[in-house]
Order: sequence, then structure tokens, then C-alpha cells
Amino acid sequence: MAILPSCSLLSQRKLTYPSSIFAYSSQIRFRLGFQIMDSTSKSEPKSVSSSTVYQVPGLDSHEMDSIAEKTFERFSSKTVKRNGKGISIVWYRNDLRVLDNEALFKAWVSSEAILPVYCIDPRLFETTYCFGFPKTGALRAQFIIECLADLKKNLMKKGLDLLIQHGKPEDILPSLAKAFGAHTVYAHKETCSEELQVERLVTRGLRRVVLSPAQGNSTSSSSTHNPKLELIWGSTMYHLDDLPISVSSLPDVYTQFRKSVEAKCAIRGCIRLPNSLGPAPSIDDWGHVPSIEQLGLHSEKATKGMRFLGGETAALSRVSEYFWKKDLLKVYKETRNAMLGPDYSTKFSPWLASGSLSPRFICEEVKRYEKERLANDSTYWVLFELIWRDYFRFLSIKYGNSIFCLGGPRKVERGWSQEQKLFESWRNGCTGYPLIDANMKELSATGFMSNRGRQIVCSFLVRDMGIDWRMGAEWFETCLLDYDPCSNYGNWTYGAGVGNDPREDRYFSIPKQAQTYDPEGEYVAYWLPELLALPKDKRNFPGKSYIEQVVPLKFGNTNRHNSQSMVRRSKFGGRPFPGHRR
Ligand code: FAD
Repeated sequence: MAILPSCSLLSQRKLTYPSSIFAYSSQIRFRLGFQIMDSTSKSEPKSVSSSTVYQVPGLDSHEMDSIAEKTFERFSSKTVKRNGKGISIVWYRNDLRVLDNEALFKAWVSSEAILPVYCIDPRLFETTYCFGFPKTGALRAQFIIECLADLKKNLMKKGLDLLIQHGKPEDILPSLAKAFGAHTVYAHKETCSEELQVERLVTRGLRRVVLSPAQGNSTSSSSTHNPKLELIWGSTMYHLDDLPISVSSLPDVYTQFRKSVEAKCAIRGCIRLPNSLGPAPSIDDWGHVPSIEQLGLHSEKATKGMRFLGGETAALSRVSEYFWKKDLLKVYKETRNAMLGPDYSTKFSPWLASGSLSPRFICEEVKRYEKERLANDSTYWVLFELIWRDYFRFLSIKYGNSIFCLGGPRKVERGWSQEQKLFESWRNGCTGYPLIDANMKELSATGFMSNRGRQIVCSFLVRDMGIDWRMGAEWFETCLLDYDPCSNYGNWTYGAGVGNDPREDRYFSIPKQAQTYDPEGEYVAYWLPELLALPKDKRNFPGKSYIEQVVPLKFGNTNRHNSQSMVRRSKFGGRPFPGHRR
């Protein structure tokens, strides 16, 4: 995550927040944990009472290796030429992949040997900015560990390796550049302040390294020089340089942005690398992929829910499984709002966030599917959602640290509570509202929650409880496998009604959401088995058969809706939180 805010509200809050909340961190480190697949793992839930763990993707390792191998082959190039000298370093960050990796490509072209490096930065295992939660929960840490193991394996297949070092990039990279005489460090560009600060420190560190003329990449170089940090844009589907408008004039309405990029720019094809990327420099000890304990965290065995496999091999396999094997792309738009099981949506987000999956690759696969099978609203809709992801990334450049501030990009002033007991009931899934509790339990147990669930629990925390939205955002930061500062804080500012677009300010009615998206209470009974015994239509409305509700709902606790309750309340109702009801 990414905040070193200049924002005074944040700093004040940090000073005044009750110290007891900082005690969360150690407690949570033990509570969250690595979940191991059992031998009965399946890819689809058969019954709400099942306690099976569902592996995503639901393929065996041979099938996944074969998919990855064929995909690498399909995206390789036999014609691309290498014309550089000396050694270059690839600094892996949130781009843990081989396919469509422009930093890797540029490093290869501009050198005779590449040194790929990953730094296990201790700052990623500290605490969140305001409320002291673990910055990286055990489930995401485990996912990243698996990404690193898989990246190392795939780089080795291509004649390279991955050097894994514990420490800060600004200490490690300059000393490696000096030791190996590397002329350039190639890396993907980030957009949020913590990551930008590391980029600045690495640049500064490299400036202090002096290389001899022979260690450069130029034939004419005759004087000493310093290694350079070359940052490459590569996290979005549309390239930053191809946008029809500058980021500073990005529209505040998503639809305007989407229509403009769809009309005026093309999505670039994936970068194609040769099959062999060697040689790697000679190194005695390439370092080990760390265990979860070495990161100061503890693993736990899963009992239910989804278990995502980290790494590019699993990412490519999930695309293949969802698009081609299960043929689900053609129904995505109809199923995407569900909450139970692995297959109602793509589940690409954890791999996109770690960079094990390229959004341009997904786009190329969608186009291939449209050509070979069919094109409909659903096939387009995956791209529509990926444009949302792009949009939040570009907005993080336009709005900087304001996306982390209480008032958001629009500097909205509003009274918020930080009542710890209420927040804990939300965080632990004990609010008395089955739909909230089930979603929060899923998040803690698996590191994942559906998009529908995220919108509902966000609205409940912010509007029904009136709690400071940043507490929710930071808890998501701890838990989510797919945590990404731009998408997380972007969506939270929208959900809290402080985002750049004032129209994205909605109240989600729990009774209505439950009736629409979980009419038989299957989802809530899966996560709250005590509700299984109730009639299906009572599971979301259990009354006294479930724990007491910690707060009343702003618009009443009824499962009947009428159009009058859908009006915007800001001007007429005098409610503390404006917005219209969903
Ligand atoms: P699909 O429905 O299959 O969508 C395909 C892809 O489109 C996703 O993988 C994702 O990359 C992108 N996408 C879809 N919806 C959104 C969206 N609203 N915003 C940005 N990208 C989107 N997503 C993250 O990747 N990281 C986060 O930290 C994150 N935090 C969120 C916090 C809140 C409060 C909310 C409401 C949403 C958040 N999202 C976040 C967006 C969204 O919920 C997830 O991307 C989605 O649920 C992931 O599941 P999927 O891959 O099956 O999505």
C-alpha cells in the first residue's frame, strides 16, 4: 500500500487514535493463516454444507505446467534480436511474471546477461498507516511466496534464475549493480507514494555507484558513469502513453474515460520474448524462497472456501480454465454478481495484483475467444471491468495521496466514528446481519470476497455504522490477496461517497441485496452453518435465531422495498450519508 501522506488529517488522526487498536497486529498475525489444500479439493461447491476447500484454478499440476508451457511457446518470438553489452538487472516488484514483461524484455535486449532480483522489503510486513493492522496478512504473504517460487522456476526454464534478497531495494540494488557492474536496473513503474519513494531512493543509491567505462552499454563510452534506473509502464491494459488525454485531465466520470479510450486508443499486443533468456551471471547462492515463518507470520489449515494458488503458471491456467475449459466467459455478465464458489467471476484479481498475469494477455485471450467461439456482452464485460482497474490506476496519479485521506479527492467534510467495538463486530463477522458476517468471515478465511460482497460490507460499515471508511480500507489492505492500493482505496473512496465522482455515492440495502443475490440463503449458510437448519427464506432474516444486530439499518430492517425508499436522501432526508439506495 502506499501512503506517506502530506495530508494533515491523516497525521492528526495517527496521533489521536487510541493506542489499544495497535494491539490488533500481533493478534491478527496468528488468526490469519496459510490454508493448505486437502486431497478432496474440488473446483465447484456442490452443497452449502460442504467444508471442502476449492482450489483456484481447479486443475492438477501437470495440466497447469502444460498450459503454461504452451502459452509461453505461443507468446515467444524467434526473430527478436539482442544487441546490448554487459549486465542489466531486472528488479521484480508487482510484476511477478515472464510473459508480457517489458522490463524483462528491455533488460534482455540491452545486455549480454540479466540478473533478475526480488527484494523482500521489511516495510511490507510492518503495519498499516493509520490503524496499525498488519500491512500484509499471512494469506497474501503465502500467495506471494508461491508467486516467487513459480517465477524462479519459470525463469530457470528460460536459462535464468531469481535472486531473492531480504532487505530494502535501495540498499540491495546499488550494491548488486556495483558488484556485477550492471549498467541498468529495469523495473515496472508504480504510482503511489510509498512505491514512488522507494523508486527515488533506488535512483539516489545508484547515483553513488561508479562504473568503469568497460561496464557500460555503449561502445563509445570513455569515462566512468553510474548505473541507471529505467522505469517501464506495464500494469494496465491501456498504456499510459497511449491515453487520448493527459492523466491530469482524466475525466471524473468513468463512462467518459471508458468511451474515450475505447474510441481513441488501441490496446498494445503482448511483448514477445525469445524462449531462452540466458545466460545468467554466475552466482553461488541465489537465495531461497522464504517460508511464511521467515516472514514472521504463521500458517493455518483451511477448512472451507477458495484457496488460490500463487504464481504465473496458476494464473495462465485460470485463464485457460475459465475461458476455454469451462467455457464461462460467455456467461460472465450474468453470473458476475454472485458470491458463492470459484466460477461466478474470473477470479483473476489476485494474479493481476501480484503481476503474475498481464491484463493485455487477458485482452488477447478475450479477442481469441471472440474469434474462435463467440462474442457477446459477457465477453466484452471482462474488458469493461479491466478498464475500471486501469481507471483507478490512472486516477491514483491524478489525485495522489488524497485517495488515502478521509475527505478523499473531493475533500468531503463529514463526521465519522472510530468506535472500536462496532468496527470489531464488522471485522470479525459478528454484526447480527448474516450477509455482512458471511462476507467478512470469507475474507478472513480465504483473503477473497466477491465484488458484490465488497460493495455491501463497505456500504454497511460506512453508512449504517458511520465508521471511518479508512478502517475498512486498511482491514482490506491486510486481508485481500488481490490488494492493490489504487483499486482498493479507489473503490473505498467511491463507497464512502468521497471519491472523485460525486455520483458514485450509493447505499446498499442489506435486505434488498440478500433477496436479490442470495435468495435461498445458500451463501450465508455456507459461511454461517448455524443458519443451515433455518428455512431458506429465513437464513438472511433469522430474527432471534441469530446473534443480535449491533446497529439498526439507516433505512429500516425490512425485506420489502419500494421505489420511494430509493430516492437520494441527501437533500430531503437530512441523513448523515447521502446517496441512493441499491
Ligand atoms: P471479475 O468480476 O472477474 O472482474 C475481472 C477483473 O476486472 C478483476 O480481476 C479486476 O482486475 C477488475 N475489476 C473488476 N471490478 C473492479 C473494480 N470495481 N475496481 C477495479 N478493478 C475491477 N480489486 C482489486 O483488484 N484489488 C483491491 O484491492 C480491490 N479492493 C476493492 C475494495 C472495495 C471496497 C470494492 C467495492 C472493490 C474492490 N476491488 C478490488 C474490485 C473488485 O471487487 C475485485 O477486483 C473483484 O471482486 C475481483 O474478483 P474477480 O477477479 O473475479 O473480478
